[in-house]
Amino acid sequence: MSMNKKTIEDIEVTGKRVLVRVDFNVPQDEHGAITDDNRITAALPTIQYLTGKGAKVILISHLGRPKGVTPKYTLEPISIRLEELLEQPVELLDEDYGIEVAEFIDNMENGQVVLLENVRFHPQEEANDPEFAKRLSMLGDIYVNDAFGTAHRAHASTEGVTHFLPSVAGFLMKKELDYLGSALDNPKRPFIAILGGAKVKDKISVIKQLLTKVDKLIVGGGMAYTFQKAKGYEIGKSLFDASNLEFCKEILATSGDKLILPVDAIITDKNPFDVGQEACETKTVSVTEIPADWEGADIGPESVKLFAEAISGAETVVWNGPMGIFEYSKFADGTIGVAQAMADSHAITIIGGGDSAAAAQKLGFSDKMTHISTGGGASLEFLEGKELPGVAALQDK
Ligand code: AMP
Repeated sequence: MSMNKKTIEDIEVTGKRVLVRVDFNVPQDEHGAITDDNRITAALPTIQYLTGKGAKVILISHLGRPKGVTPKYTLEPISIRLEELLEQPVELLDEDYGIEVAEFIDNMENGQVVLLENVRFHPQEEANDPEFAKRLSMLGDIYVNDAFGTAHRAHASTEGVTHFLPSVAGFLMKKELDYLGSALDNPKRPFIAILGGAKVKDKISVIKQLLTKVDKLIVGGGMAYTFQKAKGYEIGKSLFDASNLEFCKEILATSGDKLILPVDAIITDKNPFDVGQEACETKTVSVTEIPADWEGADIGPESVKLFAEAISGAETVVWNGPMGIFEYSKFADGTIGVAQAMADSHAITIIGGGDSAAAAQKLGFSDKMTHISTGGGASLEFLEGKELPGVAALQDK
């Protein structure tokens, strides 16, 4: 399936005020410095196409989860980074989106770019308030959604505004949907998915959905221990989701040899989040030999080998979620191993955003992957087969 939505190439944009919803929700350090500008660079093709066509580009984004106007969450550092990347001025406009902002926009030159202050300074944004969406819409002639990372939320700037303006997709949105969509609907086989992270609960629908599509489903990370428990193994103090034990049993009983689970684990006597990793004693054991007072914190080397073999034989690999508590180096080898195997593979490799994307980036594997999604939550919902409200609201081709 490639995307059946209109894009910026399907409409006339020259001289128009084009409202572009981008996802500039970038990570920052404690001083507000941007630590990863991937989401900004990913939006450049859309912005540059529009400026090249002589559109007036009005960018909208959120940052963080502010409660009302919160200086900490200003988009100022982002407007500065964007100026550097675009090599042209980017005016940051007031959060009131009122008369002065409207006048500024009316006086923009063709090809000029402005950024509106954090849209989540307004509680009406997340409430998808129609009055607020209408106010936003009055700042533009056309609406473009390029914020894949926010497309699973029906907010005023992702969904509400589409009721008032002709609405199309940007290039990043199209790229994300094309990669994820063709991997799911028309994958080169063997097709393998790898899931990790903490909670089974968050991934039930994605497990169900993926099992109907993939040749192999690898489950690692904290969520694997509920499956190990379902097999009857002692998992000690490892993460356990009792309410989904039956679900895991059912999946084990019905998935045949599609499901691949870790065979060994790096276990620890303490949790590194509680005491720091230096205080953690570690051992490598088979998953059948976890002592009652220890917890599994990473997949072990035999599991990495097993997963890497599966990955090397695949033609399409989709990965979401770390294999262990990768925030600490003692428990990051499993996640590094999976990223390395994907980087070494000739397959179409797609990372579904979030922690696994951050890990791949940090390890320097980014340009070895076919596609790294800018949206963790959005790509998970897409993999679940859900319709994303921010996409559904755009005009069909
Ligand atoms: P999620 O948000 O569900 O993708 O989970 C990401 C989190 O899972 C990261 O913060 C990891 O530290 C955590 N995680 C992964 N494996 C384990 C594990 N074996 N035990 C505890 N936490 C884990």
